[in-house]
Amino acid sequence: MSLVRAERLEKSYRVGEVDVPAIRGVDFNIEAGAFVAFVGPSGSGKSTLLNLVGCLDHPSAGRLTVLDTEVASLSRTAAAAFRGKNLGFVFQDFNLVPVLSAYENIEYPLLMVRHLTPAQRRERVERLLAAVGMTEQADKRPDQLSGGQKQRVAVARALVSEPKLVLADEPTANLDHDTAHRILELMKSMRDTFGTTFVFSTHDPKVMAEAEVTFLLEDGRLLEQNGGAA
Ligand code: ADP
Ligand code: MG
Repeated sequence: MSLVRAERLEKSYRVGEVDVPAIRGVDFNIEAGAFVAFVGPSGSGKSTLLNLVGCLDHPSAGRLTVLDTEVASLSRTAAAAFRGKNLGFVFQDFNLVPVLSAYENIEYPLLMVRHLTPAQRRERVERLLAAVGMTEQADKRPDQLSGGQKQRVAVARALVSEPKLVLADEPTANLDHDTAHRILELMKSMRDTFGTTFVFSTHDPKVMAEAEVTFLLEDGRLLEQNGGAA
């Protein structure tokens, strides 16, 4: 089953008087349950593409279908609702709330989910804390955690609302190679456990080797795909 499909997708940024192309007509397909990386040098368009798939920005042209929804035409409000229901995000700099504990950071997205009772919420947060191996550190604040531990919390936070798709823009860029490897193993095991599709970006060859499918970007164009069906 196709989860994300892009057809002749384009994105330009308006800079002063001119439109600067960042994505120049790309086609790709991401299957449900895939473990996918967009790779390429800095400036090749990785973040732009993830922001489009994550419904954080609008395409300039082309079609983009995410979970059977044509997202290019969503209003800001509809895009926000779509993100809350279907998507999770992991960032390069972790983006944890500094004054909240690991537990509270993971719980945070659930405070907007009205149909959960406090007991159900606690059960979910505890399950995710355990899944990412952070039960012991539940009460620690981000400044008391290592980079790898912070990213574990961020992965748990991305998964707590049970999204179909998690988008991670350079999730290992601020981690050493061993820690980066462990975070990717963790994301893969979360994919295996929960069936969540993961799409991440990286410019690091060691990190891209961990993906099952890679899309190579250069200058806003898709140069090649490795793994997966075209
Ligand atoms: P990557 O994530 O691969 O480093 P980006 O998607 O950030 O690449 O950038 C792709 C291109 O788009 C670059 O040329 C960059 O300068 C340009 N770009 C990205 N964001 C903006 C923006 N908000 N305004 C103008 N140009 C941008
Ligand atoms: Mg980027």
